[in-house]
Amino acid sequence: MQGAPGGGVGPGPSPVDRWTLLVFSFILAAALGQMNFTGDQVLRVLAKNEKQLSVLRDLEGLKLQKVDFWRSPARPSLPVDMRVPFSELKDIKAYLESHGLAYSIMIKDIQALLDEEQEQMFAFRTGARSTDTFNYATYHTLEEIYGFMDILVAEHPQLVSKLQIGNSYEGRPIYVLKFSTGGNSRPAIWIDTGIHSREWVTQASGVWFAKRITQDYGQDSTLTAILDSMDIFLEIVTNPDGFAFTHNKNRMWRKTRSLTEGSSCVGADPNRNWDAGFGMPGASSNPCTETYRGKFANSEVEVKSIVDFVKNHGNIKAFISIHSYSQLLLYPYGYKAEVAPDQAELDQVAKSAVTALSSLYGTKFQYGSIIKTIYQASGNTIDWSYSQGIKYSFTFELRDTGRYGFLLPASQIVPTAHE
Ligand SMILES: [Zn+2]
Repeated sequence: MQGAPGGGVGPGPSPVDRWTLLVFSFILAAALGQMNFTGDQVLRVLAKNEKQLSVLRDLEGLKLQKVDFWRSPARPSLPVDMRVPFSELKDIKAYLESHGLAYSIMIKDIQALLDEEQEQMFAFRTGARSTDTFNYATYHTLEEIYGFMDILVAEHPQLVSKLQIGNSYEGRPIYVLKFSTGGNSRPAIWIDTGIHSREWVTQASGVWFAKRITQDYGQDSTLTAILDSMDIFLEIVTNPDGFAFTHNKNRMWRKTRSLTEGSSCVGADPNRNWDAGFGMPGASSNPCTETYRGKFANSEVEVKSIVDFVKNHGNIKAFISIHSYSQLLLYPYGYKAEVAPDQAELDQVAKSAVTALSSLYGTKFQYGSIIKTIYQASGNTIDWSYSQGIKYSFTFELRDTGRYGFLLPASQIVPTAHE
């Protein structure tokens, strides 16, 4: 698809305004009781071998709920990124040094990035009344994104409709945008963003995709050909409770917000909760971990809603689930080492996709099966969609490779979505 929706970015705030904004956003955050991450750092460790990796894995157990792995220990060729609270920094650094593990500091002060993010959001908060003036180059709240969907539907009633496929654990509506030029139960493409709530560039990309689809239909030949024979379903905020929580309380929240009986820890990992190798290694049974699989397959209503929708539809041909970060394009399997029956074709498709992607800004994505490229992950989304006969099941991990991680500056939203 060619051409990009305008960023809608006006001139930035002047230096004097900048301080006012910064002070204001700080007061606002404090008043709302948002978690503060002052002095927290993201450390990167490059393990040399399996033994060093296991030292890092031990850290996960030793410092449960303290060290937050942004990129988990996987294989020696892949970096391990971890967010460490200020209060634990001395301990953790000593632990790493005592085991001969070298580290570098990727993010020196998380709160500094969060302040910039808030300041940017505040400066460009507009309350757009049309999708042409909506600012695609800033992050938005759940209410703003839901408002955007309604405006888009109102502007293109012949092309876009909004379906509610369920309610989240906390009772928020779960919406899917349907792009269709007619027909009955046409073959369809499914795209979801934001199943992990802190991966903000994904929901922001979803918003941009929606705008692009309406803009390109009738203009771009490829997109037009697709929509003349297929429907597209796009779920922008796939984990609305988690997303609201990242705005209101804790920017680093990844999981759902469901309660588990007998545990004070909240939420399950909605990318370990699907009925594909559920419960196998590659997920955790401990509710206090970030990869807690949930009580049983589909226990999370945010997952179950998609499962029911996809099964009822019965004619989904491609399923694309979008995450960040790491710059990867992945296909099944994640839960087992066995090669997927369509591996050769999926690998070809992935290769073409990352080549096309890098032609835009030179961004490099690696590709391959989940288990080979990163690590074993059971109960993940695309292993399930693949098990339903949806051959073209892919997961993207968008920008970046760790400079900012989940805190990707808003200036990178549009290029990332474009890719
Ligand atoms: Zn994710």
